[in-house]
Amino acid sequence: MNKKIALIKGDGIGPEIVESAVRVLDRIAEKYNHKFTYVDAPMGGNAIDVFGEPLPQSSIDTCLKSDAVLLGAVGGHKWDNLSGKMRPEAGLLGIRKALKVYANLRPAKLYPQLKERSPLKNEISEKGFDILIVRELTGGIYFGERGIRSGSLGREAYDTECYSEIEIERIARVAFEMAEKRNKKVTSIDKANVLESSRLWRKIVHDIAQDYPNIFVEDMLVDNAAMQLAKNPGQFDVILTSNMFGDILSDLASALTGSIGLLPSSSLGDSTLGLYEPIHGSAPDLPRNVANPIGTILSAAMMLSDSFNMPQEAKDIQDAVEKTLNNNYRTADIYMDGYIKCSTKEITDKIIEFI
Ligand code: NAD
Repeated sequence: MNKKIALIKGDGIGPEIVESAVRVLDRIAEKYNHKFTYVDAPMGGNAIDVFGEPLPQSSIDTCLKSDAVLLGAVGGHKWDNLSGKMRPEAGLLGIRKALKVYANLRPAKLYPQLKERSPLKNEISEKGFDILIVRELTGGIYFGERGIRSGSLGREAYDTECYSEIEIERIARVAFEMAEKRNKKVTSIDKANVLESSRLWRKIVHDIAQDYPNIFVEDMLVDNAAMQLAKNPGQFDVILTSNMFGDILSDLASALTGSIGLLPSSSLGDSTLGLYEPIHGSAPDLPRNVANPIGTILSAAMMLSDSFNMPQEAKDIQDAVEKTLNNNYRTADIYMDGYIKCSTKEITDKIIEFI
């Protein structure tokens, strides 16, 4: 199969972790006789330096003409003092909008080999967990009406949580479809005891659940969900939630896995043109060739399964990551005494060897 992949390398560790993922993709192409071609789409601080803006139209066009987009990370101290739309991170919102991706999928898995790195107590981490968080990405309070006005107590600020039936339905369908491929359980997280938007959310999720009779669905209030994630994360399979709740809960879930450098994500819309990126930032504090590339490599695996319908190829990458960990290879962020410390390039070499 021939596929064109847009690469947004970004800033900081972005270029080197994307390079690792490309090397892994090339190994997959060689093994399965695929042809992947890559085209650069500058975004972030480096784009500001060259084009005077974080997301030039030419990069958007490049992404729209590709079969999928792989993104490293953007941002860095050099551009910290720029304002609003001129900041590197503005490119992130811009590219999500241009690609019309409304579903953010974040797997959070605790590898048994890394349980000592988890902040969870042994008796909890021992059981492990494998959660997929499906977060609505383009609606809710981050996009609702907002402003500053004069109220009865003086100046006040407001933001609005608003969800339409159609927005809830389409993200709920993504969660149910994902649960079909996993352990057939969806936990829908809301705040229906207080919020009107959550009550509509809950009703639509239950309506959609009728179309998926073999999926077990449960509701959970967001405050309880935060507690349950810390106490018993193994109970979750697919978590379905809104933009803001998903933002917060997915960071909590990722912290429980031991290192932010391990976790991939995908953002999908109605077409197969998805955006794939690790959940971490550009880590400007790290020297070169030290970063953990696994989150980006696993993002490339998600790209193979979700955009290219290549589940076996994706599984090869996931298995190779597990074998690399089983054989005690560790980057600095997950290193402990007695293990083999690897640079970014060395751990990538090991993953490629295991494919
Ligand atoms: P960060 O995720 O870059 O770093 C947080 C901590 O995790 C740092 O100590 C870093 O060294 C470590 N870390 C992150 N990725 C790692 C990896 N792959 N391997 C090993 N260690 C890793 O978050 P931050 O420090 O808050 O932000 C740094 C910059 O990244 C800022 O400019 C921020 O705006 C930007 N950012 C970008 C994205 C994105 O591009 N999607 C996301 C978050 C933050």
